[in-house]
Amino acid sequence: MKWKSKEQRLEYYRKWREKNRNKLKKYQREYYKRHHPECLSYIERYRKMNQKEDRARRIFYYHFNKGEIKKIELCQICGKKETEPHHFDYDKPLEVVWLCRSCHKYLHLGKTIYEILDIKANLYQSN
Ligand SMILES: [Zn+2]
Ligand SMILES: [Zn+2]
Repeated sequence: MKWKSKEQRLEYYRKWREKNRNKLKKYQREYYKRHHPECLSYIERYRKMNQKEDRARRIFYYHFNKGEIKKIELCQICGKKETEPHHFDYDKPLEVVWLCRSCHKYLHLGKTIYEILDIKANLYQSN
């Protein structure tokens, strides 16, 4: 196509974009999917993980409330009182470890048990 003026060309593009807005959106999505599969799958993974976590927690508390699971009163990492359950594997909803709030938090932040013990040891030393 030959353009009589720059304005004409811009106008043509503008109309084309307008007309193909949905197609473009779809194309962008496809492009994104193709070039950043890890991003999409991360979101997918995250969502699936949350669903699994919810499900595991529901099953756990159902059995816990029936008295089938015993609470361990001392944190299984540092030995502190007042524990809450933590799932290492959401596919095994009845298998939990009992952790104090702070160990639990560190674990969810991605710390390993050894790192948590280190952190705690340093905390106690500085007090
Ligand atoms: Zn602890
Ligand atoms: Zn947890």
